[in-house]
Amino acid sequence: MMPRKIVYGTNAASQFQYPENSLVITTTTPDIYEKWLNYMGIKKYEIYDKVTPDPAIEKIQEIKEKYEGKEISAYIGLGGGSSMDVCKYLGKLTGIPKILIPTTFGTGAEMTTYAVVSFNHKKKLLQDEAFLADAAVVDPYFLPGTPFNIMRNSACDALAQASEGYDSKLANPFTKLFCKEAFEILEDGIMNEKQELLPYGAMLSGIGFGNSSTTLGHALSYVFSNEGVPHGYSLSSCTTVAHKFNKSIYYERFKQVCQKLKFEPLKLKQSLDEAADVIMPDRGHLDNNPIEVTKQDIVNCLDEIINKNPMQ
Ligand SMILES: [Zn+2]
Repeated sequence: MMPRKIVYGTNAASQFQYPENSLVITTTTPDIYEKWLNYMGIKKYEIYDKVTPDPAIEKIQEIKEKYEGKEISAYIGLGGGSSMDVCKYLGKLTGIPKILIPTTFGTGAEMTTYAVVSFNHKKKLLQDEAFLADAAVVDPYFLPGTPFNIMRNSACDALAQASEGYDSKLANPFTKLFCKEAFEILEDGIMNEKQELLPYGAMLSGIGFGNSSTTLGHALSYVFSNEGVPHGYSLSSCTTVAHKFNKSIYYERFKQVCQKLKFEPLKLKQSLDEAADVIMPDRGHLDNNPIEVTKQDIVNCLDEIINKNPMQ
């Protein structure tokens, strides 16, 4: 599955015809979203700009109620993962069409049927056909201004998704085609410093892993995310170690890209045993790993991540 309409390229967002009375859903950083709105040339719209990271279900219900009776014609999710997740969930609740416009380039979330929403302060990965965008607009126009840190975290996430998705038990020749192509484009973009390739690679990665799944690398990464490490950053070590464990064809190449991006080793506050207990119930990732994973395997992987600098 992929969005009914995908528009890619510089000027894609400025040339897109936005329906009148759309509701733009974005985060509280006007310096970023205002330049986008100007560039998009969108007229006659409402804006909700209070999306925060890890959006809670209560917040989404609140937005739904706030705009009830206002005849919103479409939702426009503008921003990183959180804005798009809110937009996806709202679209499922109301049936109003959704247009997704990523501004951070890395998650590929604009392509997928996944959404991450918090219930009782716990992040949950949900999948539903109703989360799929009616249109995805990917425009690298503002990419040159992206800070290095954000760029490398996004690039690492896209690369991890592409390679984990390739190895996933749910992969098939069609999804592998997208994951393989995505990996090659992203690798070329990073190793040869052709940044302009990254949004396209991330988009293809989204189609590939969105129709298979990510696996052990992502499962390992969430205990680091829970301690405040950015998602893409934690994947640099976690996916490297996971690829080694799985004997992935992407192990060496993934590691080389992480070295090029100069990622530092990770630290963990909780004990390896505690962390492994958090990771084990994550069946959505672990059941799709190409090799079966025991708790001891997880402890060993974490030990390698923390104590043996896997990027060396
Ligand atoms: Zn990811």
